[in-house]
Amino acid sequence: MIADSDFLVYRTSLGRPFMDKIVCVGKNYEEHAKELGDFVPTKPVIFLKPPSVLRQSGASESLNLMIPIGRGSVHHECEMVIQLRKGGFRMSFDQARQSIGAVTVGLDMTLREQQAVLKKSGSPWTIAKVFPDSAVIGPWVAIEKFSNYLETPFALKVNGVLRQEGFPQQMTLSPTECIAYMSEYFPLCVGDIIFTGTPKGVNSVVPGDLGVLTFGPIEFSVLWHGTKS
Ligand code: ZN
Repeated sequence: MIADSDFLVYRTSLGRPFMDKIVCVGKNYEEHAKELGDFVPTKPVIFLKPPSVLRQSGASESLNLMIPIGRGSVHHECEMVIQLRKGGFRMSFDQARQSIGAVTVGLDMTLREQQAVLKKSGSPWTIAKVFPDSAVIGPWVAIEKFSNYLETPFALKVNGVLRQEGFPQQMTLSPTECIAYMSEYFPLCVGDIIFTGTPKGVNSVVPGDLGVLTFGPIEFSVLWHGTKS
C-alpha cells in the first residue's frame, strides 16, 4: 500500500501525465454474463484498448462511426465510463474513490463471433475488441456536477428502440472497487478511461443504424457506416 503522500500523478516514461490507456471491465453485471452463457466470475475480467480506437462526441453531436464488414456480428455494449484525475499503483479504496474525475456513457464495440472463438481457445480478446471506432464515449461531466451518477440509469436506443438500460448499483464491483482492483496489478494514469462493464441487452448493429446514448445530463448520437474488412 502506498502512503497518501506518495499518491501523486502517475507519470509516463516521457515524464508527463497523459492518457495512457483505456481499461475495460468484462462481466461486471450478472444478467449480461448469463445472456452470453458465461459463468459469473468472482473477479471481473480486465482488458485494454489503445487510445487510437477512441472516438469522443461533443454535447448533442452526432458521430459517424465505421463498423467492420465481413467479420461476423458487431455488438454494442453500452457502459458507464469514468475518467481518472489521479493515478496510482496499489491504490486504497479511498484513493480509488478520489481518483474518479468525470463520467460519461459509451460503447465498447465487440466482434461477438470472433470473441466466442477466442474464448474457446483461451486466447486474448484483442482482435474482437480492438478495431477503429471500437471505443466510443460522450462528453465528460465532472462528478461534482453529476453527484448522483451512481443512482442514474444510462441507456442506448437503436433506431428509436431501447436496447440497453444500465443501473450502476447493479455492478458486481463498484467503480471504486474496479479501480482499486486494477491498480493492484498495474499503474493507472491521470486521464485513463475506464469502461465499467455492460448490462444485459447487447445486440448487433449494421450500417445505417442510428444509436442514441443518454446518461443524466448527457445525450449524443452515433450513425454507423460500413467499412471493408
Ligand atoms: Zn464491455
